[in-house]
Amino acid sequence: MAFKALLVEKEGDTFTRSIVERHTDDLPEGDVLIQVQYSSLNYKDALSATGNPGVTRKFPHTPGIDAAGTVVESTDSSFQSGDQVVVIGFDLGMNTPGGFGQQIRVPAGWVVPLPAGMSLEQSMILGTAGFTAALCVHKLEAVGMSPDSGPVLVTGATGGVGSVAVMLLGKLGYDVTAVTGKAEQHDFLKKIGATDIISREAARDGADKPLLAETWGGVVDTVGGDILVNGVKGLRYGCSLAACGLVDSPAISATVLPFILRHVNLLGVDSVQLPLADKKVIWNKLADAWQLPELDTLKQPLSLDTVSEAIDQILEGRMVGRGLLIHD
Ligand code: NDP
Repeated sequence: MAFKALLVEKEGDTFTRSIVERHTDDLPEGDVLIQVQYSSLNYKDALSATGNPGVTRKFPHTPGIDAAGTVVESTDSSFQSGDQVVVIGFDLGMNTPGGFGQQIRVPAGWVVPLPAGMSLEQSMILGTAGFTAALCVHKLEAVGMSPDSGPVLVTGATGGVGSVAVMLLGKLGYDVTAVTGKAEQHDFLKKIGATDIISREAARDGADKPLLAETWGGVVDTVGGDILVNGVKGLRYGCSLAACGLVDSPAISATVLPFILRHVNLLGVDSVQLPLADKKVIWNKLADAWQLPELDTLKQPLSLDTVSEAIDQILEGRMVGRGLLIHD
């Protein structure tokens, strides 16, 4: 069967994007063939679409680390034709054709049934970014974070992970301090749940000091670099920072002082290889106790025709909220 997909091709050191017609037979072997109705735009998709070798090595390639849709056929008895399902992470959209195509074929071990209480569209407004925000909060709460711990700092706050983290923490009763480089988005951040807002420059202040005032009851960090290190240095005694991103820098230059004087934790967060059983726990929370009624506020609708422009936008740090790719 023919379907449309965004295809990234490599010519020398140049990567070009176009919308092409593909065929089901072009897809790799796999247990479950899915008609994709929604995907979403993540920072990693932009890296894949521009040839970052840490993400994608095989071209031509269709990015899209997220997909939600309907099972067309399955050789695995866990899934039947017509089932609504969600796929995020593992190799989808990295070196396996992803959700920027209208069909994908993947191993059954990557597929999660759409949780009851969540629509396909909602699952992709969240997508990997929203899922990761929830995973950060889940991990922070597992080591004791609660609204009584103190305000929670969220960095890269207008981005995909950041905006969902702000909204979720706000819903759960936390005071949220959002770090943003976008002065014009303060109203948006307040609307989705931020109590206070600070600039990226302010979040970098004190990079030369070994410790900062004990301020944060937790940190969700999406940017890395000095802002992450300052987050650790500003944690209250015994509190934790969840590190999931690197849009500023993958490098950190720190001392052990916050760890040995303030008993704080630096937690790693990975949504990609997280086992399916753990993924289901997070999806089910997002469909139930952590359901976000205002999720639509974050939605930036995209089509295959407009996703390429949005890829440039996310690479330049200009994205606000979540790009939702709607297939026709
Ligand atoms: P987005 O581009 O949507 O958001 C990133 C935000 O970071 C921007 O909107 C901007 O927000 C801020 N920002 C951009 N550049 C800089 C900079 N130089 N210094 C400080 N802040 C900056 O990306 P996502 O939210 O999708 O992803 C965020 C990070 O998380 C990425 O590194 C991504 O790879 C990673 N990630 C990791 C996952 C995991 O499993 N570990 C899963 C999903 C994402 P503002 O203007 O408000 O400051």
